[in-house]
Amino acid sequence: MRNIIVQKYGGSSVANLQKIMRVARRVISYKKKGFNVVVVVSALGDTTDELLELASGITKTPPERELDMLMATGEQVSVALLAMAIHKFGKEAISFTGAQVGIMTDSSHTKARIIDVNTRRIRRELEKGRIVIVAGFQGINIDQEITTLGRGGSDMTAVALAKVLKARMCEIYTDVEGVFTTDPRIVKNARKLDSISYEEMLEMASLGAQVMQARSIEAAGKYNIPIHVRSSFSGKQGTYISKEVSAMEDVLVRGVTLNKNEAKVTVCDVPDKPGVAARIFEKIAKGNINVDMIIQNVSRKGYTDVSFTVVVGDLKKTIRILENFIKKIKAKAVTYDKGIAKVSVVGIGMRSHSGVAAKTFKALAAKKINIDMISTSEIKISCVLKKKKGAPAVKALHKAFGLGR
Ligand code: ASP
Ligand code: MG
Repeated sequence: MRNIIVQKYGGSSVANLQKIMRVARRVISYKKKGFNVVVVVSALGDTTDELLELASGITKTPPERELDMLMATGEQVSVALLAMAIHKFGKEAISFTGAQVGIMTDSSHTKARIIDVNTRRIRRELEKGRIVIVAGFQGINIDQEITTLGRGGSDMTAVALAKVLKARMCEIYTDVEGVFTTDPRIVKNARKLDSISYEEMLEMASLGAQVMQARSIEAAGKYNIPIHVRSSFSGKQGTYISKEVSAMEDVLVRGVTLNKNEAKVTVCDVPDKPGVAARIFEKIAKGNINVDMIIQNVSRKGYTDVSFTVVVGDLKKTIRILENFIKKIKAKAVTYDKGIAKVSVVGIGMRSHSGVAAKTFKALAAKKINIDMISTSEIKISCVLKKKKGAPAVKALHKAFGLGR
């Protein structure tokens, strides 16, 4: 079957009945244009958060199987309502849970990965001329247990369906007009990007630009699924995410991101001997904590300080682990700082152009912003600085790289 389009509507696009009706009209308009439309919907508005809140009212450690059972109900509500809305407008639609359309996942509850999708049922319904509506964010494992795909996982459902159905396009509808050069709440003249590469988008998502679930971007890139991120409140073109094309390299920096969700941990007076850093980070890794940036200060008289960043949510656990451990490695103390921000510039153009780092540091220096930590990859430069300097740093970099309108 040809001419399949997958459209995913996020929670904000279906936050109330009026918005659901609006989505129904848009879906129908695509059907009328001759598309075979497969719709993926998230739970209404903040439903998922509310469900989690309910669970935490009972226990701090709910069984993950039951958590998935609970969270999956959110999307079941929205698919049914959207199908009803489409019926009301005189078109045929049918809604499905993830399990019903054979979205098979592994068994890691609350963060399951899709293993396989059985397209038979979906194709059969499309052939009947129906609009197919699939509950996002959920699947089923080999034991017939309901699983969920991690927060924001409806994007993953959409990308997976686009892949197996060989869709012409995977549209991600949200409440913003697309992907911006930076957060428009911080920089007024931030510009909507017409296109961005998977890699850049993945960096931006990982660095805090919450337009699409990072995992789903990775999958889209792997299978080269064309994505269009756009607003469900207008007909305007949004941002296309695609494979990098050489013209994309002409732009040095695509975007600037701000992440205020990390904290810095410092292990003070660590003996400067081979193997000590390995022991520290082994210990942290065992606690299932992801470390982002790491720096080691210059050694003084055989001792050094080791600093790194973790997401704020992991801070307590990190400190708890290290407080006991530092005695074993004969370090003196462990301290932390929650008052930091990470500002990053991202662009595949960095691969083929030099001077981005110098320009970044110069722009920050001109605003007297002190850099605490630096990390780089092929396509990004991140700087940790004081939290209150986060927004000024973003503004300075956005301007320095000429990203505004
Ligand atoms: N409703 C789920 C969440 O809020 C999935 C999604 O929105 O994509 O995380
Ligand atoms: Mg949601």
